[in-house]
Amino acid sequence: MLKQIDITLSPVDAQKTDNYTEYASKILKISKNRISYIKLVKHSIDARQRDIKVQLRFVIVIDEPNYKPEKIIFEPKNVTNSKEVAIIGAGPAGLFAALRLIELRLKPIIFERGQDIHQRKRDIATMYKNNKININSNYCYGEGGAGTFSDGKLYTRSSKRGNVNRILELFYLHGANENILYEAHPHIGSDKLPKVIENIRNRIIEHGGIFHFNTQVVDIIIVNGKINGLKLNNGSIFKTTNLVLSSGHSAKDVYKMLASKNILLAAKDFAMGVRIENPQEIINKIQYHNYSKIELLPAAIYNIVQHVNGKGVYSFCMCPGGVIIPASTSDNEIVVNGMSASKRNSGFANAGFVCEIKNEDLTEFKKFGVFAGLEFQSHLEQLAFNNGGGGLIAPAQRIIDFIKKKKSYDLPKSSYIPGISSSEIHNWLPKFMSENISKALQMYGQREKDFINENAIMIGVESRTSSPIRIPRNRETFEHVEINGLYPCGEGAGYAGGIVSSAIDGMNVAESIAKKIKD
Ligand SMILES: Cc1cc2nc3c(=O)[nH]c(=O)nc-3n(C[C@H](O)[C@H](O)[C@H](O)COP(=O)(O)OP(=O)(O)OC[C@H]3O[C@@H](n4cnc5c(N)ncnc54)[C@H](O)[C@@H]3O)c2cc1C
Repeated sequence: MLKQIDITLSPVDAQKTDNYTEYASKILKISKNRISYIKLVKHSIDARQRDIKVQLRFVIVIDEPNYKPEKIIFEPKNVTNSKEVAIIGAGPAGLFAALRLIELRLKPIIFERGQDIHQRKRDIATMYKNNKININSNYCYGEGGAGTFSDGKLYTRSSKRGNVNRILELFYLHGANENILYEAHPHIGSDKLPKVIENIRNRIIEHGGIFHFNTQVVDIIIVNGKINGLKLNNGSIFKTTNLVLSSGHSAKDVYKMLASKNILLAAKDFAMGVRIENPQEIINKIQYHNYSKIELLPAAIYNIVQHVNGKGVYSFCMCPGGVIIPASTSDNEIVVNGMSASKRNSGFANAGFVCEIKNEDLTEFKKFGVFAGLEFQSHLEQLAFNNGGGGLIAPAQRIIDFIKKKKSYDLPKSSYIPGISSSEIHNWLPKFMSENISKALQMYGQREKDFINENAIMIGVESRTSSPIRIPRNRETFEHVEINGLYPCGEGAGYAGGIVSSAIDGMNVAESIAKKIKD
């Protein structure tokens, strides 16, 4: 007999995993011996009240001593001689499209402008050493895409678009810790994710898929409204009739290339702002109400949503125990983002703090048409560079000073390795953004007084939260509305915002291509 039960425990009791069978037997009012199998399927912390609780959900099998749990099934085929599907970009969208294609007996050929994971790590180390970005191998470009060196947070609000659990299962089957299958807020960590990504690549290659790293697609060839091939930066042409375009939203050159061929693009709302950082200790105190056994709890997370002047201002991609990193992809721009190692133990807590941006906010950029948002984004990234300290040194300000509109004469320690330099962010951030962010911080600060403290800073700019452009596609077939065989996919196409939603989109697109080929 299979049963599901929920147990609520104190953090102290929740640590005693050896006692779980006993807790379950008490709730079920049966002897421990009758429990043939017990599995934790949900784990969350309820810190809404001072009396913090851990909520656990178990699947339990009773009186079935020979019970064997179902295995997660993934059955890729050998696709060496199968029909080829080209994929631009080895980010989550491209990789999960490829994983699904090998299940569906199709051969993925992946073109990635960046390097494989090992060379990418070396390039990032060189970037820190030289205080200079490598424009094709960085925190956004390379094997695994933008999410490889991230917190690896695997939660998404887009569960309606597909099977979130399937993505978690595939990450688990490729080396992620089993806890991602039951944690309410699963995450992998920037120290573990590269190995998982490498395992995914090896799986695809073992089954006949092909990767071309350090290979940028510079043009797509269209004949009579149909995809016909790709031009690569090494001068060669790759013939294909099915193309997954999952190049992410940092690849501004891809949008420009599409526009130069009169391929329909659409502007969309997006969000930009700054990254804020606090000592993790303060966040723990706020979120866990000064709980005395804080060491039993993970680094606390927060989620801020405020509405100011009819616009959403919110925290984004919060990285507990994480670090702020330089995520630029070109010279003369500063873009920041955040990541955490699996243990989330840096001592800092950072999050994007961004303000909704709509087309009507971009009057000065109207002349750029569909590229208004993209140009505004570049403008802000260059402003951050001009107001930083040169190279990758980012502009920063204490939050208290930002609110008071005054310069910070000194800055507290920050996790951002290239260094920060004091800047009057309130002066150069566009007025509507500056005002909305300031107001939202004050509103939250009224509720959580400790949040705005002497050590709380902001670093500019957090500009790549979502794509300012959508590449329109058919809702059912996922094919571009005008170009046959072109499948815009993932975050850069405007259909995802995060690792899991991009991966789901990749799987959906792969299924659609397989269906079309079969029909
Ligand atoms: C530092 C950081 C931390 C993040 N943390 C999280 C997190 O914890 N959780 C979360 O859900 N999301 C996180 N994100 C966001 C997440 O990484 C993205 O939403 C996700 O990676 C988008 O997936 P994608 O496959 O659509 O695009 P991308 O991951 O951007 O991948 C696109 C790939 O295409 C390649 N490419 C671009 N142009 C070309 C071309 N012309 N030819 C060949 N290749 C090309 C790029 O090099 C890149 O590898 C983070 C992002 C960053 C930068």
